Amino acid sequence: MSENSIASGSSHRCGWRLIANHFVAKTPTNAGRRFYKCLSSCGLWEWRDLKIPPHVAMVISNLNNSLKCVEVEKNYLKKMVADLEEADSQEKVKLKNIVAEMKGIKSTNLVAVSMMED
Ligand SMILES: [Zn+2]
Repeated sequence: MSENSIASGSSHRCGWRLIANHFVAKTPTNAGRRFYKCLSSCGLWEWRDLKIPPHVAMVISNLNNSLKCVEVEKNYLKKMVADLEEADSQEKVKLKNIVAEMKGIKSTNLVAVSMMED
């Protein structure tokens, strides 16, 4: 499967009786047009759909490009969220250590004060 097509569930058999997978073209001039392709070396490759009007293929191609941009942005934002969660986790550990240190200082001071009172 190339980057310019996607496989789907439907299939039929080639001359060698092998399953020829069904793909959807993603090239700008045929975006959305379905075709069969055998993954063996028999060479079967044929359109399943009639030719798509150019303006429709262009709309589909533009939508595919928009989808790619949204997916890139989604992955960037997921990475950003993961980084922020990691930073938050590290800050929580630092805060916990500071609180533990402050409790230690407080109890040490209480012991010192009680010794002065005696
Ligand atoms: Zn074949």
